[in-house]
Amino acid sequence: MKCYICNESNFIKKIDEYKLLTEEDKNTFEISGIYKCSSCELGFANPMPDRNKLNNFYKNVYRSPNRPPYFNSLKIEDIKSLYLEDKNLNYLLYLTTFIEFTKIKNILDFGSGFGDLGFALKKNFENINLNSIEHDKFCSEILNERGYKNHLSLDDIPEKSLDLIISLHSLEHLDSLEIFESFRKKLDNNGHIFFEVPNSTKEYFTGRAFDSPHLFFFTKKSFEKICAKFGFEIVNFSNSSYSYKMDNTFQSDAQKKYLRDKKSFLSKSSLKKFIPNYLISLRRYLIKGKKIDNPERMMWFTNNTGKNCYIRGILRKK
Ligand SMILES: [Zn+2]
Repeated sequence: MKCYICNESNFIKKIDEYKLLTEEDKNTFEISGIYKCSSCELGFANPMPDRNKLNNFYKNVYRSPNRPPYFNSLKIEDIKSLYLEDKNLNYLLYLTTFIEFTKIKNILDFGSGFGDLGFALKKNFENINLNSIEHDKFCSEILNERGYKNHLSLDDIPEKSLDLIISLHSLEHLDSLEIFESFRKKLDNNGHIFFEVPNSTKEYFTGRAFDSPHLFFFTKKSFEKICAKFGFEIVNFSNSSYSYKMDNTFQSDAQKKYLRDKKSFLSKSSLKKFIPNYLISLRRYLIKGKKIDNPERMMWFTNNTGKNCYIRGILRKK
C-alpha cells in the first residue's frame, strides 16, 4: 500500500476502522480500515471501493429519499432558495475577495450538487459561463434551469479552457488524487481552484460518527504536499465553518434518525412519528439563520477560530 501523494509505503499506519453511515453502505464500501501517511498527513480508505459500484452509488443512492445526511425531502422551492443561505453567501464573499471575477469567463463546479455558488456568482457577474460535473439524477433539472452545462466527465472539457474550478466537499469522495493532474490540464494559465473539505486532524477522528462515503481525509499539510506535487501555489488557506462539536452532533443526529426510521419501518408503525429530528433541526437551523439577531450565524462568518471543522483554500496553477 502506497501513499497517494508521496508514493511511499514507509510512513503508512492504520489509524481506525472504517465506520459506515448506513448498513446498506457496506454494499459499496467494503473497506477494511483508514490508513494515514505520517509524512504528508493524508488519510485514506483501503481498499478503495469498486469504481462501478461507486458510480452507481452517486448516481442513484447518495441523495435518494430517506438516506442520511440529506434525507432529500426538502421541497423544491426550499432547495432553490438555499443559495441565499449564510453558508453560500460566505463562499461568495470569500471567493470574490481573492479572485477578480470581472476577468473570469469559464467556471466548472466539480460535484456541484444544486450549483448554489455558481448561481450566486452568475447573478453578480453575468458574463460567466457555468459548467458542472454532477452525476446525481436529483440535481440535473435544477442545474439546467440555472443555466449550467452539465458534463458527463472532465474529458468533455477542452484543455486550458477553464478560469476557475470549484470543488466544495467533493474531493474527499474520490478514489484517486489524479484529479489534480486533470484540473491542471483543464485550467488556463493562472487558473484557480477553490476547494473546501473536512479538516481531518486527530480531533476529527476522535469525534466522528461515520466515514462513508468519504474516502480521503485531508489536512493543511496534505494540501501543501498536493500543491507541490501537482504544480499549484496557495493563494489563501483558511479553517472554516462550524465547530467539530457541532459537526459531530449533526452527524450522529443524522445516523440516529436513519436507525429510528429503519426500526419504525420494520415494525410497520407510523413513520410520521419518527420523521422529525434531524430534518426539523435542520429546518429550524435554516429558519433561525434568516433571523438577523441569531448569534449562531457568526459561525458562517468566522474563519480560523481554532475549532472550525473544515479547511478551504484557493490554489493557483503555477
Ligand atoms: Zn504521504
